[in-house]
Amino acid sequence: MKIVCIGRNYAEHAKELGNAVPSEPVFFCKPDSAILPKGNPLYIPDWTNDLHYEVELVMRIERLGKNIGEDFSERYFSEIGLGIDFTARDVQDELKKKGLPWEKAKGFDGSAIISTDFISCAELQINNISFSLKKNGEVVQQGNSSDMIFDFNKIIAHVSKYMTLKIGDFIFTGTPSGVGKVTSGDVLEGFIADKKMFQVKIK
Ligand code: MG
Repeated sequence: MKIVCIGRNYAEHAKELGNAVPSEPVFFCKPDSAILPKGNPLYIPDWTNDLHYEVELVMRIERLGKNIGEDFSERYFSEIGLGIDFTARDVQDELKKKGLPWEKAKGFDGSAIISTDFISCAELQINNISFSLKKNGEVVQQGNSSDMIFDFNKIIAHVSKYMTLKIGDFIFTGTPSGVGKVTSGDVLEGFIADKKMFQVKIK
């Protein structure tokens, strides 16, 4: 199983980090060891001083596919979940400056939160899904899939040009603006509309 993550898929978030809005999807991968087991707290690694949350809608792939056309992408997923793409921003900034890959900053143990529950696409308006993240009870990020630069179908078409998508793979679809730092003691809660999808404690 692999975890593919889309970067810079919301214009406001690209801007807040000083990145250009991309002309094609930017993506990277996290290893399966990045998934934080449900119920575990996330311990801030001792090699970062700037660990950021990025709340994102997540697709789970249900069919094997390669070179999937946009018109057929909907056959490859039927449910949407929610996750956090934890990012050691200080480490990522150093790597970006040097033109190096981001794996250390993005793929460490616990860097992927994925909700246990997924919501059927039949119950959602796929291009109008609102989601949010609360930190210690206050909303810090709010997004809507209508603001994605590349929608779910475009993402599947693009990624599958390069990588075969397999059953059980996850695709993180990018974060809206409002990313920020966590500190020990914080509690993060993710929501799709009003439905609570996960909770994670930071230590
Ligand atoms: Mg992200």
